[in-house]
Amino acid sequence: MGDMEQQFVDEAFATNWIAPLGPNVNGFEDAISSYLGNSSNVAALSSGTAAIHLGLQLLGVGKNDDVLCQSFTFSASANPICYLGANPVFIDSETDTWNMCPILLEQAITEGIAKNKKPKAIVAVHLYGMPYKVKALHAISEKYDVPILEDSAEALGSRFEDRNCGTFGTIGVLSFNGNKIITTSGGGALVAKNKEIKDRAVHLATQARDDAPHYQHSAIGYNYRMSNVLAGIGRGQMMVLDDRVNARRFNHEYYRKRLEAKEEITFLEEGEGYFSNRWLTCVLTPSFEIREKIRMGLLAENIESRPLWKPMHLQPVFKDSKHFVNGVSETLFDKGLCLPSGSNLTEADLSRITTAIENILK
Ligand SMILES: *Cc1c(COP(=O)(O)O)cnc(C)c1O
Repeated sequence: MGDMEQQFVDEAFATNWIAPLGPNVNGFEDAISSYLGNSSNVAALSSGTAAIHLGLQLLGVGKNDDVLCQSFTFSASANPICYLGANPVFIDSETDTWNMCPILLEQAITEGIAKNKKPKAIVAVHLYGMPYKVKALHAISEKYDVPILEDSAEALGSRFEDRNCGTFGTIGVLSFNGNKIITTSGGGALVAKNKEIKDRAVHLATQARDDAPHYQHSAIGYNYRMSNVLAGIGRGQMMVLDDRVNARRFNHEYYRKRLEAKEEITFLEEGEGYFSNRWLTCVLTPSFEIREKIRMGLLAENIESRPLWKPMHLQPVFKDSKHFVNGVSETLFDKGLCLPSGSNLTEADLSRITTAIENILK
């Protein structure tokens, strides 16, 4: 936490705004919107998953529709597709950003069209904070008129060519879960290019109550709005977002400086125009065996590291889902490792971790 979160939470208590609406909710939305720019319209919600659920519904996704989803991601990118009774179709990654491969995306769309089943939406993810191939994916989205839901849950503070992640998709999604770059303990936001979509999201998130003195409903709603108490935490966190990005990028640069000469360690590069918040520092090793040797060696030193996300097309729960694959995400899963990346790591922590890795590789 920074210096101001407690004060905003105290204000909520002092004014008795203990509800899923109030001044902190509005203030948090305004702070996100002015940070993101591009006249983004922000709805604060109970989680990033809730934002994906509402976002897909607002893009018109319904029963039996196909939705193209990045395979290399956390399961929350895909689960809401199933909440809506639609079918996830998983798309593998390219090697430059580790995100959705434009070639496979276009192949999936044209095959869908040929079978008279044009996909309803695309869920593209800026994984680990690295922006996806914005130009290529959005060109395909426009060419075939299939909207992108931009999962920016891991990429608040990342940019592509001076435009903030979260503002590229027809709908963007942020997460403020406890593990993300800033947090409200649990929380999320839907970012819309147009105000009407935001208003519809808020309507659905508050039980779809019609404008009437009595309780009247013309649609099925959800209880997905953010609490005014948690939004107070969010307002304080927005004030330290840039510090958190700098801390994560410092971790990354530290690891890189000490380890990039090692042939067993490769880092994910920022290409021209890319700015990653470096939410997690991830490295690629030459083999599963070397990855495990590093991971287990660190564990013996009481240092936790983790394999990269297991692709959705390899998950038991999605074993029957259609997928377009090229082997990239499977290789990343086999050979990749997330290093300790918290914003509160000290230089002494980083030194201890890096020394342990150097010793393991000796
Ligand atoms: C965290 C995360 C989500 C879900 O956000 P929650 O706020 O935890 O529901 C979605 N997609 C990705 C890629 C995430 O990392």
